Amino acid sequence: MRFDTKLLHGQATKSHLSGATIPPISQVSAFAYDTAEELEKVFNNRAPGFAYTRISNPIIDSFERRVNELEGGKGAVACASGMSAITQALLNILSEGDEIIAGSGLFGGTIDLFKDFEKFGIKTRFVKHITIEEIEPLINENTKVVYGEVIGNPGLDVMDIKAVADFVHSKNIPLIVDSTTATPYLIRPFEFGADIIVHSSSKYINGSGNSISGVIVDSGNFKWDGIRYKGFEEYKKYGSLAYIAKLRNGIWRNMGGCLAPMNAFLNIIGMETLGLRMERICDNAKSLAEAINQTGIVTANYPTIEGSPYQDLVKKQFNGKGGGILTIRAGSKERAYRFMNTLKYALKATNIGDSKTLVIHPASTIYTHNTKEQMQNAGVWEDTIRVSIGIEDTQDLIEDFIAAIKSL
Ligand SMILES: *Cc1c(COP(=O)(O)O)cnc(C)c1O
Repeated sequence: MRFDTKLLHGQATKSHLSGATIPPISQVSAFAYDTAEELEKVFNNRAPGFAYTRISNPIIDSFERRVNELEGGKGAVACASGMSAITQALLNILSEGDEIIAGSGLFGGTIDLFKDFEKFGIKTRFVKHITIEEIEPLINENTKVVYGEVIGNPGLDVMDIKAVADFVHSKNIPLIVDSTTATPYLIRPFEFGADIIVHSSSKYINGSGNSISGVIVDSGNFKWDGIRYKGFEEYKKYGSLAYIAKLRNGIWRNMGGCLAPMNAFLNIIGMETLGLRMERICDNAKSLAEAINQTGIVTANYPTIEGSPYQDLVKKQFNGKGGGILTIRAGSKERAYRFMNTLKYALKATNIGDSKTLVIHPASTIYTHNTKEQMQNAGVWEDTIRVSIGIEDTQDLIEDFIAAIKSL
């Protein structure tokens, strides 16, 4: 089954029994059983079934299975938001004294989160780019995970997943990737050796900007040493499901960052068109970036454009597609604002992966909590505009952007 067909007819689409063409929303908190014995069994994972929506729910289960199948994972766990997914994916394996190595071109919220982790004795060492050369000197006995974005948002640097995964595995360290901006349409990171994937499914997976959610997917490939990774000893018996089992029975369940059933439903509907949308979005982004650069007035950054250091990686990892984000440097903050205010179609909003094109000035919004250095490492300058490309007609977008550029 190819990508678009799998979205509609994959094994995971058959996981509900009612015959409904999309799974019905189980908008309930709890599930009742005929006998106390049955409830006991379900509660203790000794019989299949659902007990309480924070822990499991049919429509959430259906969403998790679909994402898991697309990524080719062993299991997935849905969360209340992308940030919740990142937090729990990491806290499932980290404890006081542990260290993360991460790319500095990360999503602003993730950089803020890693600062919050410091209070709990978890330290992050940042590298400018996630490459073997930059990671190697920072590895020590406390390094428990390497974390990076497949395509940095908004830095647009592209990670060579296979090279990094092979290297960190030689040091017995897992690689967690945030694949939000790439989506399974561009890449299935497990095929390149990533161990765990997190998504903010608020973005392209949902596709219409109508709900916040996140999801964690495990490849089942990393061998968790119960001494190095506290708490894993008792999950050894789950074999390749150890990570997911520990997550479900531990931090994810207890912190309570579960997904709402309604949002799982909206994500499932959105996901059916993920392939179609991404195809149009990538085509739009590439055409628009090229048209912008031809003006010679401002410059656009996009992973496939001429002169990008990532052209080869994009071919190797993403089948030549560049994703849905491009950035523009307008020359000054004042020109950036004037440009944004002149655009007819692009909505001025934070968020990416909406069906509508969105623009934002990251330095004055998403990165207001970050230092100038953090900002620049993330590819954000005073004159940077981030564009999240939508599915509008290509020519309309080009005409609108070129007119706004000419007005400068
Ligand atoms: C939006 C985003 C997040 C955070 O996700 P939320 O759903 O907003 O919590 C994390 N990583 C990346 C790359 C994002 O774009």
